[in-house]
Amino acid sequence: MLASTAHRPPTNVLVLNAGSSSLKFTMFTMARETVMARGIVERIGLDEPFLKYERLDGVSFKEQALVVNHEEALELVCAKLIDPDTGVLKSLAEVDAIGHRVVHGGENFHDSVVVTNEVKHNIRECANLAPLHNPPNLGGIEACQRVFAAIPNVAVFDTAFHHSMPASSYLYAIPYEYYEKYGIRKYGFHGTSHQFVSYATADLLGIPLGELKLITAHLGNGASITAVERGNVLDTSMGMTPLNGLVMGTRCGDIDPAVVLYLARHGMTPDMIDRLLNKCSGLLGVSGIGSGDMRDTIAAAEAGNMQAQRAIRMFVQRLVNYIGSYFTLLEGADAVVFTGGIGENSVIIREQVTQKLACLGCYLDPAKNKVTRGFPAIISTPESTLKAIVMPTNEELMIARETVRLLSVPPKIIPAAVTADNPKEFP
Ligand code: ADP
Repeated sequence: MLASTAHRPPTNVLVLNAGSSSLKFTMFTMARETVMARGIVERIGLDEPFLKYERLDGVSFKEQALVVNHEEALELVCAKLIDPDTGVLKSLAEVDAIGHRVVHGGENFHDSVVVTNEVKHNIRECANLAPLHNPPNLGGIEACQRVFAAIPNVAVFDTAFHHSMPASSYLYAIPYEYYEKYGIRKYGFHGTSHQFVSYATADLLGIPLGELKLITAHLGNGASITAVERGNVLDTSMGMTPLNGLVMGTRCGDIDPAVVLYLARHGMTPDMIDRLLNKCSGLLGVSGIGSGDMRDTIAAAEAGNMQAQRAIRMFVQRLVNYIGSYFTLLEGADAVVFTGGIGENSVIIREQVTQKLACLGCYLDPAKNKVTRGFPAIISTPESTLKAIVMPTNEELMIARETVRLLSVPPKIIPAAVTADNPKEFP
């Protein structure tokens, strides 16, 4: 099937992230990669939905949104984007393309793609791997196809960057037939963020990504860490689902799978265990302070709460374990990159992590660390052979760039559905 595409690179790109009850949007003009407007419609399908809208020049407002589904939310966003008072476009015809965040590409997608019926079918097929995310992501694409009939849509997958992982990293040590029959393997997530900060770090250092070995730590409410060797992922901490790996806001990360069996044998149902490990664990569960937010945890720890102090020690220790493991897997690395809300802003967490990295040649410059919040900076000393770098992520911009990249090449043939048997054949 021919992918619909424009030959002129798109200039005005709308980026959408459709969640189960929210629609996040960013309107970019790509000539200088500028955000014209952005915002979110929240509580779609629930009581009292609202719209938050912000324009480049600082105009911003929050108002009630009379919408019951994602299509109506998109129509509302479109109305605001072309409104003479609040808008940034004269008409919707000025939107050249739409880029969509799609959480799970399974084995179907190794790269971003221009949306076709076949692509939608394959995204639907991956929904069993991400039942809470892929259906609303697809709903956002379909809403756009109805509202913007002739405009190309591009799907950008959280999992795609990780497809360069070797089988030795993505397979679990269980019988191979479980991979073949059920697709049970590590997929990895936050790929768009790890990819963005990898390129941005290469730019900051003035060294091509193809010559760098990086360990990128995305530390937000969800957290993951990735070993990136010359632009290819060697390993990543999240697994078949985002539950694995680091200690997160409310997720446990790595845990002995026998704990799950134990809980099941003692009467907990799969849904109860799912909730326990995804929603009640991590910083929230360990600290017992009623919040999984790192700022709250740090505040409680500073006030003397010993469980909060322990939660932070566990967060740091798990992170350091992964950094050490990826440093050896990469056979040495050029930089550890901190991103996400915690990585970009938390002076204390960066200090505690890097304290443990002197043995790997990473020495923190405390003064630089202290002043670095939310902007790119090298926070290690010049003698460090392993640099510590703070690099704000920008997943929306990465999606916009991918949209431009996909639509700037001539139309190409999209092959038939890819299965676990021939995963490498997808472009
Ligand atoms: P999400 O995964 O929801 O996108 P973010 O990347 O926004 O999350 O990160 C949210 C996390 O960042 C929260 O735990 C928050 O407490 C933490 N955070 C933000 N600013 C700071 C700060 N100054 N110090 C410590 N943690 C911070």
